[in-house]
Amino acid sequence: MADSFDFAARVLQWYDRHGRKSLPWQQNPTPYRVWISEIMLQQTQVTTVIPYYERFMQRFPEVVSLANAPQDEVLKLWEGLGYYTRARNLHKTAQIIRDQYAGEFPQTLEQVEALAGIGRSTAGAILSLALNQKHAILDGNVKRVLARFHAVSGDPTKPEFTKKLWQYAESHLPNTRNHHYTQVMMDLGATLCTRSNPTCMLCPLQEACLAFKQGNPQAYPNAKPSKILPEKSAILLVLRNKDGEFALQRRPPTGIWGGLWSFPEFPDQQSALTSLAKAPNTISSLAVISHTFSHFRLHLTPLLIEHADDLLATGVMEGDGWVWYNSESTFSGGLSSAAQRLLTALKEKT
Ligand code: SF4
Repeated sequence: MADSFDFAARVLQWYDRHGRKSLPWQQNPTPYRVWISEIMLQQTQVTTVIPYYERFMQRFPEVVSLANAPQDEVLKLWEGLGYYTRARNLHKTAQIIRDQYAGEFPQTLEQVEALAGIGRSTAGAILSLALNQKHAILDGNVKRVLARFHAVSGDPTKPEFTKKLWQYAESHLPNTRNHHYTQVMMDLGATLCTRSNPTCMLCPLQEACLAFKQGNPQAYPNAKPSKILPEKSAILLVLRNKDGEFALQRRPPTGIWGGLWSFPEFPDQQSALTSLAKAPNTISSLAVISHTFSHFRLHLTPLLIEHADDLLATGVMEGDGWVWYNSESTFSGGLSSAAQRLLTALKEKT
């Protein structure tokens, strides 16, 4: 990088002219509001997040209202955003802030980083965007900008690679306007220095960008080594009673779709059928539902059993872990994506 090139000044000038300033979480940017947006924006596009964010803020305008809500309600507002661990961690963390910090969002990097679901980059983003503290961030967008600007090669899954980028991220921080600087680094990665076809001609960093000079920005960061996902399969028991309602079960609090409502899942057909009070008259297999998670692919075979009113084993429908679900009535819990897909498919068939 040319010695005279002032990285932060260049991007701040660009921010003044082109940076995003009207996103909902940029208005009244308290640590709480920025935190919710940062968590929602992980793995999710801005345009998808905006309506979720607005609904969430309307219902939970500050941290204590989120902490005091039933988990079902939090998951319901998250329904469709995916990666539900994020929602469970938000809820848990809000309760910690209520109980250990008297409802005031902590304000040091160490305290924020220690909260569930908040890593170093997210903690830096919250304190920088909300309180203008001087902290670096290194989310996927910023990684891409810095890897290209400095032409950092190597396996991006290795700690050495990330360590190098953190050093660069820290080295460019301005002494003032850190909140604008953090925002513009995210904006550059999201709008100009995109994964494919970066718009280098409009980029304020072009003059000193090594990847641009080499003529191959898309070569950085290097591709991650490809990973073959393990395949798993399971059975979903789809019990419909004579009123057209389905038996749904609340999933365990941790693991995939944790805390959401779904059709009961079994490792195989035999265990699914032996869970019933008596043998059903007919069973229909429905189309397999496949879902890819970050660490495996799951193939679910639904077994539909009609007139299942008296098939549930004694005691199974007791307690609050089961419901007869009717799509016409209001239901306060969030549904797993498998349940949503299956309920839609079954509705279309009728
Ligand atoms: S010049 Fe191109 S590759 Fe370099 S930072 Fe800008 S957009 Fe990215």
